[in-house]
Amino acid sequence: MKFKEKNFDKKNVSDAVQKVSAYVPGEQPKGGGWIKLNTNELPYPPSPKAVSAVKLELGSGEKLRLYPDPSSFELRSAIAKFFGLKPENVLAGNGSDDVLNLAVRAFSDKARKIASFDPCYTLYPVLAKIQGSEIVHIPIGKDFKLDIPALLKSGANILFFTNPNAPTGFGFDEKTVAEILEKFDGLVLVDEAYAPFAKYSAAKFVGKYPNLIVSGTLSKGWGLAGMRVGWALGSPAVISTLDKVRDSYNLDRLAQAAGAAAISDKKYHAKVVSAVLRERKKAESFFDKLGWQHPKSSSNFLLVEPKTPCGKSGPKQAGELFEFLKSKKVLVRYFPNSPEINSKIRITIGTPEQMAALEKRVLEWIEKRTRECKCGSLNKQKTKGAKS
Ligand code: PMP
Repeated sequence: MKFKEKNFDKKNVSDAVQKVSAYVPGEQPKGGGWIKLNTNELPYPPSPKAVSAVKLELGSGEKLRLYPDPSSFELRSAIAKFFGLKPENVLAGNGSDDVLNLAVRAFSDKARKIASFDPCYTLYPVLAKIQGSEIVHIPIGKDFKLDIPALLKSGANILFFTNPNAPTGFGFDEKTVAEILEKFDGLVLVDEAYAPFAKYSAAKFVGKYPNLIVSGTLSKGWGLAGMRVGWALGSPAVISTLDKVRDSYNLDRLAQAAGAAAISDKKYHAKVVSAVLRERKKAESFFDKLGWQHPKSSSNFLLVEPKTPCGKSGPKQAGELFEFLKSKKVLVRYFPNSPEINSKIRITIGTPEQMAALEKRVLEWIEKRTRECKCGSLNKQKTKGAKS
């Protein structure tokens, strides 16, 4: 064999991939005892109907010998029914990350730019780099006013519009989505991973706007992150274009069965979503009382700016709180390398018990800081006294 491992060298790697640093997903800690509030999973199991469907599909294992339905037809029909659409308006993805990847591959290249608002889901720039596409970031204003003229000037072929937004949690209203769809001369992918916790879905605009793609997932609002089921909704023309790029068997049998059963169980979905919304409201008022800032959330998480009792906020304080919580086995998300949000921590809304445990640890951290603040001011007074 001519090719030796030692010969494996950067030159064997495509120019685009040489420049890529892999996407870093949130930690999935090993071992038990964690209060896991770091990757925006639902804190409840999926519908019992989804679990039964998986068991039924698995049976003795005999069916696993055969390939799954390449078009995920039953799953697509169930998704279509949920949104009041037709199966030809739906593509099924191996999670919605799969859909995002397909959209980047189908609608961008060296000549066709991508736009996204900033901060954004950090997977988009990674996918863009792999494709060798330029990505234009349009900052989200402090008051969440989008700079639509800058977007229109970007010359991008596709906009990735995360709504509700990640990592801020903020939800843009229907009017803003419609305005962008009307004015932007390209495709608009509305990434609705968190829409189950918001007031509406842009799915209702499919049929009206031929440039719309809505991506969604069963990972957050249906408790099926472990199954990897997502979708794209759009016009038949857009869907069949994405379909050209898709792996033929992108969803396995168990995922298709679980997904169809889960999305058909509307009652269970509504119940778990309202449980999350109740806890979100309580968590918002807990942080409001502490005077810790956070954008109004339309998602199943809060992006919170920790503040010490002496009023200090910043990357140091956020990083310290993150580590303190982790040392108590409460895992939240911290993005030290993102300057726009590195003075904040992102907290997934959990069960009432998980949230009570989080709040207890936050209060402990404040208590610890209070002592330090007091010591700090005593020391200051002593130094002042020594000088005078
Ligand atoms: N979009 C956003 C904004 C996300 O935060 C995530 C999850 N990290 C996804 C899409 C992808 O979710 P999934 O692949 O589990 O459907």
